[in-house]
Amino acid sequence: MNLDLYLSFHLWPTGLWLAFITLLGLVVASFINVVIYRLPLILRREWGEADLPEVSLSWPASHCPSCKTPLRWWHNLPLISWLVLKGACVSCKVKIPLRYPLVELTGGLLALLVAWRFGANLSSLVYLGFALSLLVLAVIDSQTQLLPDKITLPLVWAGLTWHWVFSSSNMFDQAFLGALLGYLSLWSLFWVFKLLTGREGMGYGDFKLLAAIGAWLGAPALIPVVMLASISGLLVALVLKLNAQWQGQALPFGPHLVVGCLVLLIGGQEVAGLLGLASWLEITGWAF
Ligand SMILES: [Zn+2]
Repeated sequence: MNLDLYLSFHLWPTGLWLAFITLLGLVVASFINVVIYRLPLILRREWGEADLPEVSLSWPASHCPSCKTPLRWWHNLPLISWLVLKGACVSCKVKIPLRYPLVELTGGLLALLVAWRFGANLSSLVYLGFALSLLVLAVIDSQTQLLPDKITLPLVWAGLTWHWVFSSSNMFDQAFLGALLGYLSLWSLFWVFKLLTGREGMGYGDFKLLAAIGAWLGAPALIPVVMLASISGLLVALVLKLNAQWQGQALPFGPHLVVGCLVLLIGGQEVAGLLGLASWLEITGWAF
């Protein structure tokens, strides 16, 4: 199906395309901040914690959590509002958490990198959607140790559908196998670790997240993704240990899987080459 030709994205000048996608990333990331704050509240209410504020993703309108002053539209401009407001609520001067501008900045940067990697076409938009969903999962997991099924499972189906409709049948096979092996590999690791040590090293959310990554990047990509995730996890553990902030408590693994996946998504073959996996991906016919 050649939707690309129909949508005529290829007629856009590169600079305009990069600017458009970056702006789109910033705006969507601004909404992502709402999801990151509200989705865990919605889930915990569903699980029976009644003493939480009743919210949905669209209701009530954005307001300061401290003084309840509603935000005006110019308070919702990504990054700019935070800078203009000097990082504090306009009426009660309570500090706006640094997470808000950081998520927006990350969303914008991811968008720019994805647009640069995939060019002016439909793939850029679709992989941006994938990357931003991963951003939501990484931040929610690092704050609440949850990887909501409401995001991970649709992401698995979306990846499979995308490759089924738009990719070669070889890529679809790899995606299907990737979803299966992504889930089963961590599931097996979980049980081996549990039987050996009696402890749980990760959660079921991690299996579903790696299934989604497999569904998008294909089975051969699972090895470089897990390698990059382990490097990222070790680095963070090392930094926490050096700062004496870590006493051996479980650290969420989801954010590291996300980092590994995004690095491979944007870096592609070159990153795989740095990891010494270029020939592995060549043998398996990984064409990404
Ligand atoms: Zn306020």
